[in-house]
Amino acid sequence: MEINLKRIIGALALSLLAFAGPASASDRLQVVASFSILGDMVRQVTGDLADVATIVGPDADAHLYQPNTADAKAVAGADIVFVNGLGFETWSDALINNAGGDASVIVATGGVEPILVDGEIDPHAWNALTNGVIYVENIAAAMAAADAGNADAYKANAASYIAKLRALHAGAADRFGSLPEGGRTVVTAHDAFGYLADSYGLNFLAPVGIDTEAEPSASELAALIAHLKETGAGALFVENITSPALIEQISKETGLKIGGRLFSDALSERGGPATSYVAMFEHNLGAIMTALQDSGN
Ligand SMILES: [Zn+2]
Repeated sequence: MEINLKRIIGALALSLLAFAGPASASDRLQVVASFSILGDMVRQVTGDLADVATIVGPDADAHLYQPNTADAKAVAGADIVFVNGLGFETWSDALINNAGGDASVIVATGGVEPILVDGEIDPHAWNALTNGVIYVENIAAAMAAADAGNADAYKANAASYIAKLRALHAGAADRFGSLPEGGRTVVTAHDAFGYLADSYGLNFLAPVGIDTEAEPSASELAALIAHLKETGAGALFVENITSPALIEQISKETGLKIGGRLFSDALSERGGPATSYVAMFEHNLGAIMTALQDSGN
């Protein structure tokens, strides 16, 4: 008798849980992230407790993105839309306003100390791991507020993820700290690594500004090439989201070798070396370190 009663109570509790919790996929929180790097951070926090869609996918340029009807549909059906902010997604306000729906829009960079490049706010704040921690804290707070039943899980996921980011940052600070002062110059296609440069005392130069839309004038490019010839610095990199043509030209004219490819504004496609924010950082830091050591300046 007693066993049966326990069974009945157990079954009742289970059905109550099923009733209160997400009964089908459509009851799960619908979350949209504006670009691939942010999408990965959100997934690290949600695990499989929410459905996460990303607007600008791997290897794509979020500066120049043009939203389509599928993006509008995703935003219209979303509970939360995460954006980077700091002027990165020039298209996101129009997309969100035109899509309709009642999603909360969360700016992941809330609380980040922005840096300026030529007087403009640099939006690439994720390129400092210390800022990545702030993104994750903002994501976890927003998820916990929107889905209180899973708040503890989001917070636990965020805490272990943040521990990983902090460990990666501490290791990188150690390694870059050992580089000589004169051997810290890196050239990339567009100015996407100001926050990384500040994190580890590196010097990044780029023929294009913080926005991929701009093109360098012939005189700006000539000045950069002359500077590189004169100083004999450093490590040259192509990027996954921009054409390699400019960097190839600089390599040809300076004799500096291209040290590989950096992932600045987007993750790599599946099977690539940067399919997550952590993998992207490990790849970029490793490639920069190797190239700087090889350039021997
Ligand atoms: Zn960029």
